[in-house]
Amino acid sequence: MRATVMFGAGDVRIEDVPDARLVEPTDAVVRVSRAAICGSDLWPYATLERSETGRRMGHEAIGVVEAVGADVRTMNVGDLVVMPFAFSDGTCVFCHEGLQTSCVHGGFFGTPDVDGAQAEAVRVPQADGTLFVLPIGEDDALMPSLLTLTDVMGTGHHAAVTAEVGPGKTVAVVGDGAVGLCGVIAARRLGAEQIMILGRHPDRIALAREFGATDVVSKRGEEAVERVRELTDGFGVHSVLECVGLEQSTLTAIAIARPGGAVGRVGVPQDETMPASLPAFYNNVTVGGGPASVRAYIEELLPDILKGRIEPGRVFDRVVGLEGVPEGYSAMNEREAIKVMVQP
Ligand SMILES: [Zn+2]
Repeated sequence: MRATVMFGAGDVRIEDVPDARLVEPTDAVVRVSRAAICGSDLWPYATLERSETGRRMGHEAIGVVEAVGADVRTMNVGDLVVMPFAFSDGTCVFCHEGLQTSCVHGGFFGTPDVDGAQAEAVRVPQADGTLFVLPIGEDDALMPSLLTLTDVMGTGHHAAVTAEVGPGKTVAVVGDGAVGLCGVIAARRLGAEQIMILGRHPDRIALAREFGATDVVSKRGEEAVERVRELTDGFGVHSVLECVGLEQSTLTAIAIARPGGAVGRVGVPQDETMPASLPAFYNNVTVGGGPASVRAYIEELLPDILKGRIEPGRVFDRVVGLEGVPEGYSAMNEREAIKVMVQP
């Protein structure tokens, strides 16, 4: 079969690889209907050390079950399933707490343990816990939004939940990438009164406004902090969704939280240390977040997608076939595309 392999920074190729197959009795093999390129794939795209074997890429997919192991109970061949970016058994203490990304038998796709999903098919460990069986068949109009349940919509929702968004709250979203845009959807869905987006790309800002952003802050650094304070009687916002992961964006996120506010971090941190420790402390700002347990959120978010109340799939502004994946990486890296959908 064909699959995406990254051999080093900037070097993504589509290669012939052995077919995905069952290894453990708890595995399923899923034929990929749609996959995606993630903003977090751009970090290795910038920095991955060159190797002969390369790394199999991709952790977001929906597809059709092609084979199940002897111990798989909850799905049948032919079911349409959502594959969250992490696999999980669904039975351990953390899975029961809705924290599947910390599953004691879990892990992540597109790592040395498990191959990636930017491919014709993918082996899914712990299929019963990992995969969510959709109540519908393949539906072209809904596929983009369903695909966001594997990562970006669940991640934006996680940022909003950990930032304690709720009715009447003021919210700021730091970052106008796909996760930030989904964060706007999540904040509005949870009843926020005022939603500011901090970003500078006109096409993304326009989409953020359609998703429910009430204000746009296009300055950066200290100027952005001042502008957010102006918009909030000088206090800052109740809830901040940090959707970038850089030192500067984290600093801004903590600086614009009002005393007693909360910051939900979902941008993968690119530094060992967290900035703004003192303002966070003196303002009693709660800093939370981490990898989103998107598996736990599918049940809650799915009805809104099926009913058309939210349309997170609009973050995909480019579609490529498998052979077009290298060009998709380049387009996202150059900020020519917000997010790329792969249709193998
Ligand atoms: Zn578990």
